Amino acid sequence: MENGNTFGNRPTGEQPDVIVVGGGNAGFTAAHAAAVRGRKVVLLERGVEDMAGGNSFYTAGATRISHAGLEDLKDFVEPDDRHTVTEVPPYSEADYAADLEKVTEGRNDPALTKVLVAESQPTVRWLQSLGVKYRLMYERQAYEREDGTFLFWGGLHVGNVGGGEGLIADHTRVAAKLGIEVRYGQHVTELLVDSNRVVGVAIDGPDGREELRAESVILAAGGFESNRQWRREHLGEGWENAKVRGTPYNNGDLIQAALNIGAAKGGDWGTAHSVQWDAFCATNESNRELTNRLTRQSYPLGIIVNSEGRRFLDEGADFRNYTYAKYGKVILQQPGSIAYQIFDSELRPMLRTEEYDMPGISVTVADTLEELAAKIDVDTETLVKTVSEFNGSIDRSVIFDPTVKDGRKAQVDPPKSNWAAPIERGPFYAYAVTCGITFTFGGLKADTDGRVLNEQGNHIPGLYVCGEMLGGLFSGNYPGGSGLAAGMVFGRRAGNLA
Ligand SMILES: Cc1cc2nc3c(=O)[nH]c(=O)nc-3n(C[C@H](O)[C@H](O)[C@H](O)COP(=O)(O)OP(=O)(O)OC[C@H]3O[C@@H](n4cnc5c(N)ncnc54)[C@H](O)[C@@H]3O)c2cc1C
Repeated sequence: MENGNTFGNRPTGEQPDVIVVGGGNAGFTAAHAAAVRGRKVVLLERGVEDMAGGNSFYTAGATRISHAGLEDLKDFVEPDDRHTVTEVPPYSEADYAADLEKVTEGRNDPALTKVLVAESQPTVRWLQSLGVKYRLMYERQAYEREDGTFLFWGGLHVGNVGGGEGLIADHTRVAAKLGIEVRYGQHVTELLVDSNRVVGVAIDGPDGREELRAESVILAAGGFESNRQWRREHLGEGWENAKVRGTPYNNGDLIQAALNIGAAKGGDWGTAHSVQWDAFCATNESNRELTNRLTRQSYPLGIIVNSEGRRFLDEGADFRNYTYAKYGKVILQQPGSIAYQIFDSELRPMLRTEEYDMPGISVTVADTLEELAAKIDVDTETLVKTVSEFNGSIDRSVIFDPTVKDGRKAQVDPPKSNWAAPIERGPFYAYAVTCGITFTFGGLKADTDGRVLNEQGNHIPGLYVCGEMLGGLFSGNYPGGSGLAAGMVFGRRAGNLA
C-alpha cells in the first residue's frame, strides 16, 4: 500500500495519538505496543513499500535473548524434527550482560543493559503471541556433530522465520491486524514543538510538505550509517568508503532534527558495527536480493591476509559472534581497504553455504598457493611464507573442534588462538572482502523507557526514541543478535508509554 490511505479500521485523516517514525523492527514493535493499549498509531516510513523495512529487512533475523536452554525455548519457536537431537546451552541474563560488557570493554550503559538482558525473552514471547514467528537458527549458529546431533554455540540461538524479510512481513501483518496505519514514502524532516513539547512532525511527502500532529512521537529512524559525510566526520577518515550493507535511508536526518530541538547525544558516536563484506560484487550496497548473503562469516576457520600477503588479526580470538562486528574496521584500515579470506579444500565444505555459495561471489580458486597469489595480485613469496609459517606453528596435538573454543593455536604474530587448521591441500580459495558498515552506535540519549533527554538530563515531553537511534548500549564492538533484541525491548517500552 503506497502512501497508505487506510487507517486500520478507523477513518483516515483523524489525528493519531502516536506517530512512529521508521518502519524497521524497533518502529513496528513500538507501534504494536502503543496500538495494543488502544492508541491510534500512524507509522511513517521513508521507503516506498518495495524499499521499506529498514536495516531490519536485510538481517538474518538473529535475535539474542537470555534463556534456560532448549526446554525454555520450545514453546515459542517453530517445531523442528531436529529438536530431539539438539543441545542448546543455557544463556543467562548474567551471561548476556557479561558478553555486552566484554565486547564493549565496559562502555555499555548499565541501566539499558539491565533492561535488555531481563526483557529480551519476554519481549520475543510477546511478539510471538502477536504473530511474529521464531525458530532455532541451525544453519548459522550450530554445528552438526559426527553422531548427527547438533550443538549450538555463541549465545545466539533464536531467529526469525524467513530472516529479516520474514520479520518485516510478520510485523506488517501484525500492524494491519492491530489497526496501525503504515504510510510509505514519507520522508520526515522536522519535529514540531509547541511550548517545549513535541507535538508532531513535518514530512516531505510525495505531495509536498505536510504536518502531522500527535500526543507523542517515537523516533525509530535508524543511525547515520548511510550518510557518507557524517561517517567521515564522526567515525574518521576512510569511513566514507565503507559499503552500506543495509538501507540507504538511515542518514541521521532525525537525529539532527532532535539535536536541533535540544536533545542530547547518547552513546559512542565514534564507532560503528562493521563486518567483512564481499569486495568486488558490483551490487554490494543496499542489495535487497542478496541482503546478508554478501557477508563472509566463516573466517574463524581460515586465515585472512591483506593485499601484501600478511595476516593482521587473530581470526580465532573468540566465536564469530563476538569478533565479527569489529573486524570490518580492521579491514578498512588495510591497504586499499581490501583483504582475502584464505581456505584450502579441507576447510571449504565447512563454510556457511548461504554466504560462500552466493551467486556472483568474489572468489579466486587455484591449485597452488603460488598461482593463487598471482591471480589475486599479492606478492607470491610473502603469501607462501605467511601460510607456511602459520602451518608450521600449529599445535597439531590439540583436536580441531569448531563447536567449542578448542584452544588449537597457531603461535605466529598475530597468533590465531583457536581453530588453527593448516592451509595445505589444494585447491586454495581466496574470498575478497572489504568493510561493510552495518549501523552506527551513537544516537540520542534517553532513559530506559525511551524518553529522550536534553543536555540537562530532563525529558523532552512527547518525544521517544528506540532502535539504532538510541545510543548507549554498544561501543567498539557488539554481540551478534543484540540489535534486533534492543530494538524490540526498547521499542516496546516506548510504545507502552507513548
Ligand atoms: C545486512 C545486515 C544484517 C544484520 N543482521 C542482523 C541480525 O541478524 N541480528 C541483529 O540483531 N541485527 C542485525 N543487523 C542489525 C539490525 O539490522 C539493526 O540493529 C536493527 O534492524 C535496527 O532496527 P531499527 O528499527 O532501529 O532500524 P531500521 O530497521 O534500519 O529501521 C529504520 C527505518 O527508519 C526509516 N527512516 C530513516 N530516516 C527516516 C526519515 N527521515 N523519515 C522516515 N523514515 C525514516 C528507514 O527507512 C528505516 O526503514 C543487521 C544489519 C544489516 C544491515
